[in-house]
Amino acid sequence: MTQHPHDTIVIGGGIAGLVAAYRLREAGRSVLVLEANERVGGNIHTTGDGDYRLEGGPHTFLASADNVWRLLRDLGKEDAVVAAAPAAKHRYIYRDGKLHAIPTSPWAFIKTKLLTWRGKLSLLAEPIKPGGARKNDTATDFFLRRFGREGATYLAGTFVSGIYAGDPSRLGARAAFPKFWNFEKNAGSMIRGAIRYMRAKKKERAAAGYKPRRGLFSFDGGLGRLPEFVAEQLGDDAIRTNAAVRGLRREGETWAVEGEGGESWRARSVVLAAPPPKAASILASLDEHAARILERIPMAPVAVVHLMGKAEGAIPPGFGALIPRDHGFRILGVIFADQLFADRAPAGHFLHTIFVGGMFDPTAVKRTDKELTQIVTDEHARLLGRYTIERVAIRRFPHAIPQLQVDHPEQIEALRLLVADHPGLTLAGNYLAGVSVDLAVGSGYEAASEIDSFLRSG
Ligand SMILES: Cc1cc2nc3c(=O)[nH]c(=O)nc-3n(C[C@H](O)[C@H](O)[C@H](O)COP(=O)(O)OP(=O)(O)OC[C@H]3O[C@@H](n4cnc5c(N)ncnc54)[C@H](O)[C@@H]3O)c2cc1C
Repeated sequence: MTQHPHDTIVIGGGIAGLVAAYRLREAGRSVLVLEANERVGGNIHTTGDGDYRLEGGPHTFLASADNVWRLLRDLGKEDAVVAAAPAAKHRYIYRDGKLHAIPTSPWAFIKTKLLTWRGKLSLLAEPIKPGGARKNDTATDFFLRRFGREGATYLAGTFVSGIYAGDPSRLGARAAFPKFWNFEKNAGSMIRGAIRYMRAKKKERAAAGYKPRRGLFSFDGGLGRLPEFVAEQLGDDAIRTNAAVRGLRREGETWAVEGEGGESWRARSVVLAAPPPKAASILASLDEHAARILERIPMAPVAVVHLMGKAEGAIPPGFGALIPRDHGFRILGVIFADQLFADRAPAGHFLHTIFVGGMFDPTAVKRTDKELTQIVTDEHARLLGRYTIERVAIRRFPHAIPQLQVDHPEQIEALRLLVADHPGLTLAGNYLAGVSVDLAVGSGYEAASEIDSFLRSG
């Protein structure tokens, strides 16, 4: 019998790959994570800049992020969680030259100028509008049908931009917003479906022992602590950084994993947890059809620009602001990061994290630091008034967020069938079931359970 140095090699040390490795290790498997970068965590990365603490990617996770809570329970790290300031429940949307708070009460809804009366009535009528969920609905079709033009532009459109940096007419409603699409499909209305779902979920969470929670969460030290917690439990011997993988080969019962630098590793099984464009090139010589499916998943490019400086004037209290497209701005939105958690900026200073680029503006990430700083500081001033900016930090993601198109579910099904032809190989990552940290963690759990069954059967 062939001796394998490892039961499993995990390619990619983002949160999905780390979770898969951690679960397999917990199940008694020997695991090696190969990560191209000099650190693990992928998109999730917190850095220090003087007394500021910057989130390069996601800032928070939600009370409803069941997979993340499960992971924290498994790791024994629930106590490390910190809740965002209560003001984080306020969010703003730009319209007609001003920021408007998204209404969070009936009175605020009546008073808001974010929507005209016509827009409000169309939104209120949502529960009685005819259902009509179609497989090929784009996000635009879906939100227009449910909310009318204003709701689709100012509420749903900005939401799409905030999550996907995407173009709603190119996202599939069923793939990109499966809960919402299913609410309409099953209950005839998104609002009625959501109410039913929330009631059922509350019961289910209570039965599963989850504490009732509301709001947004992170850790002392930032969201980057999440991959660090997992990596700490895995231990240094289970992780190789600066180890970019080039390709995969099957040699009898063994997987041979080839590194960019000419090294190679062997294992009985492989979890491929690299993002779609990289996963495509790694699979290219093994399975060109699978590679082609991965290659065709569009990835929104995004630049994240942090502005740091003296707090002057009044920034409204809240999480941040989103700007609908076609309103003369290139920035997609701003997170008022210093307001979320106490340790993000020195006293008397602000930290705003701004997103630029996305599917409507794919070349923005290619701008020089100087150009991006100019665009962002000018537009920040237009949106919030002029502030003394003392420092700027920029992180670019040429392939930030997968765009789940109309046929995404079928493409992923086809991809999984192709991969199933290669025993001991499985996939993990945020392009499979949804782009959130929570679903990326979920995909790690799922990959681990598939590989564990495979190893058991062998
Ligand atoms: C700017 C931004 C903001 C976001 N905001 C939010 C948010 O607010 N809330 C939320 O829930 N989600 C958010 N997300 C999404 C969330 O960050 C991701 O869904 C999640 O982190 C993806 O994890 P992953 O492990 O699937 O992929 P990744 O984090 O991309 O990890 C993949 C890893 O594979 C490695 N890799 C690539 N190629 C190779 C190779 N050849 N060999 C070895 N390793 C390789 C990469 O270096 C990387 O570490 C945001 C994403 C971005 C980019």
